[in-house]
Amino acid sequence: MARAEKIKYLIIGNSAGGIGAAEAIRGVDKAGTLTIVSDEPYPAYSRPLISEHLSEGRPLEKILYRPADFYDKNKIKTLFGDKVAQINFSERTLELESGRTIAWQKLLLATGGSPIVPGMEGKDLKGVFTFTTLDDAKAIDKFLKQRQGKIKAVVIGGGLIGVSATEALLKRGVEVSIVEMKDWILNTILDEEAAALEAVALSGAGVDIITGHTVARINSSLLGEVNGISLDDGRSIPCDMVVVAIGVTPRLDLVAGNGVKTNRGIIVDRRMATSVPGVYACGDVAEAYDFVYGENRVTPVWPNAYTGGRVAGLNIAGKKAEYGGGTAMNALKYFGVNILSAGMVTPPDDSYEVISQRGDGIYRKVIIKGGEILGMVFAGDIEKAGIIYNLMKDGVNVAAFKEALVADDFGLASLPEKIWRARLEIPASEEASIVPPVELPEEAVIDE
Ligand SMILES: Cc1cc2nc3c(=O)[nH]c(=O)nc-3n(C[C@H](O)[C@H](O)[C@H](O)COP(=O)(O)OP(=O)(O)OC[C@H]3O[C@@H](n4cnc5c(N)ncnc54)[C@H](O)[C@@H]3O)c2cc1C
Repeated sequence: MARAEKIKYLIIGNSAGGIGAAEAIRGVDKAGTLTIVSDEPYPAYSRPLISEHLSEGRPLEKILYRPADFYDKNKIKTLFGDKVAQINFSERTLELESGRTIAWQKLLLATGGSPIVPGMEGKDLKGVFTFTTLDDAKAIDKFLKQRQGKIKAVVIGGGLIGVSATEALLKRGVEVSIVEMKDWILNTILDEEAAALEAVALSGAGVDIITGHTVARINSSLLGEVNGISLDDGRSIPCDMVVVAIGVTPRLDLVAGNGVKTNRGIIVDRRMATSVPGVYACGDVAEAYDFVYGENRVTPVWPNAYTGGRVAGLNIAGKKAEYGGGTAMNALKYFGVNILSAGMVTPPDDSYEVISQRGDGIYRKVIIKGGEILGMVFAGDIEKAGIIYNLMKDGVNVAAFKEALVADDFGLASLPEKIWRARLEIPASEEASIVPPVELPEEAVIDE
């Protein structure tokens, strides 16, 4: 057998988590061999922007996460378009589908999530897509270009990915129906009231939203192409294409039965280390500390992947760094409605206090327990939501001024002087990290 190449730092996954780690490693060790493997054939791109590739043909060069010369400049060897087939954790080697074997000293699993596709009839028909990669967006684009006349799509799942796909399809002139199993769209990131504002905007744009139902079957034409779907109540909707967007699940195939402790995701400590020495994990594949719940959870958002990656990278390169914790935080602007939510969006029981305010197209809600903010949903006007997010992240006791948090004129001046003075010292980069999700933070929040 050929001798395996030896790499000091090996990263699987070339996205937010992998890049965060690579940058942190190079901040410490400029020369140690560093390789990134990815089964996607592209340099790192902003995954949330695949919708703009589909809607307006924004090319790869315009959605790159780092400049094209990033890898060369940082002496990073890339193995793109190759998939890690298996890992031998005791021998510290891995095998690529291309047949190569690579030996590593330290390994980062930044493999993200894969789209969930239920085993329903018709899932393999021509015209069925997922929407999590640039190649998915390209495949839909190709399909639309090949079709003549009005195209009708059914998007299965009204979460962030489903709504993102819907907006892009609509901009391409496609007629869209969303089928959402739960009672309201965006239910993992919005409460019913904020979701209703978003639903009004979607309906106004012509989207047909069906909630409380699932797709039982995707129907086929005689040519083996999608020609409709059947709902669980027997109703049928004719359509030419289907986008399956019911969620992503941590991509655990490489660690299954391999001694790496997992729950929903790979369990990591505050250094982002897994249960196997020398092996780290971050991003959508990992279950890392969530400061709202005070426990490890999967929080599949870009800034957390990047920050977790940085922490992992520092530890991998021999520094001591701890992940301060993240939480699910989403700032969106779909169909013109500004929305920001973070932490809990509905209180789990009556022991939580809810402070809210609503006006013309505006909704603000803060969830509080023991004086601390544990969740927030802002819709319509999110200008000051950043201040509240930081109060939540820093565990500031807001009991004395809680009503002011949702007031129209809320601002730093609404806070007691001791608190606003401390807030003003927050670095601008941290404030920026919670504005639009695609303006991604350059800085990680690290407690070294
Ligand atoms: C359409 C869409 C919109 C989104 N919008 C937002 C948003 O507005 N705000 C936000 O914060 N987040 C958003 N997200 C989520 C965000 O993109 C993810 O949280 C983030 O990409 C996670 O980064 P990651 O590095 O953990 O993994 P990923 O980005 O999933 O990357 C993992 C990489 O590892 C590769 N890989 C996996 N297994 C292997 C293997 N065996 N061999 C080789 N390579 C492998 C994968 O192919 C992939 O390239 C969105 C996601 C999607 C799909």
